Amino acid sequence: MKASAVIAYIGLGANLGDAAGNVTRALARLGKLPQTELRAQSSLFCTAPVDADGDDYVNAVAQITTQLAPLELLRELQTVENDFGRERPYVNAPRTLDLDILLYGDRIIASDELVVPHPRLAERAFALIPLLQLDPLIAIPGKGPAHVFVPAVAGQGIRQIGK
Ligand code: AMP
Repeated sequence: MKASAVIAYIGLGANLGDAAGNVTRALARLGKLPQTELRAQSSLFCTAPVDADGDDYVNAVAQITTQLAPLELLRELQTVENDFGRERPYVNAPRTLDLDILLYGDRIIASDELVVPHPRLAERAFALIPLLQLDPLIAIPGKGPAHVFVPAVAGQGIRQIGK
C-alpha cells in the first residue's frame, strides 16, 4: 500500500554562478523527484548573506506533495544539490545550490541528520517570507503561526525579484 502524500516545503538558495538560473532549474527538478509533485513555487527573492560568505543569495520556497519519507526526501535533495555541483569546502561556504526541508506536514523531527521544522526557519527572512507568500496562514509545528515571526526578521535585507 502506498503511503499517503504529505505537503512539504523546500527552501532553495544559491549564491554562486547563475544563482537565479540554478534556483529556477532546481524548482523544476523538484517536480521530477520520485513520488513527488511540485504544487507551488514562491517568487524568487534576493537576500543578503546571513552568517555566510559571498554574493547575495537568490532564494525561493517550493510547496510539494510527496510520498517519500523524510529521510528519503533528504537524500533526494542531496542528490540534486550534488548534481548542481555543490561543494562544501567549509561551513557556510558560497553555494551553487542549497536545499532544505523547511516543513514536512506537521511532523517534528529531531535526529542527527534531519531537524524539521528547519531550526532557522523562524529566524531567516529568506525562508520565512517566501513561505508566507505561498501560505500566509501557515503554522510552524511547535511554534505557532509563521507570520508572528516576521517583525523579528524585518531588519534582514530581502527583495522580491520579478513577480
Ligand atoms: P547544509 O550544509 O546547510 O546543506 O546542511 C546540510 C546538513 O544539514 C546535512 O548534513 C543534513 O543532514 C542536515 N540537515 C538537518 N536538518 C535539515 C533539514 N531540515 N533540511 C536539510 N538538511 C538538514
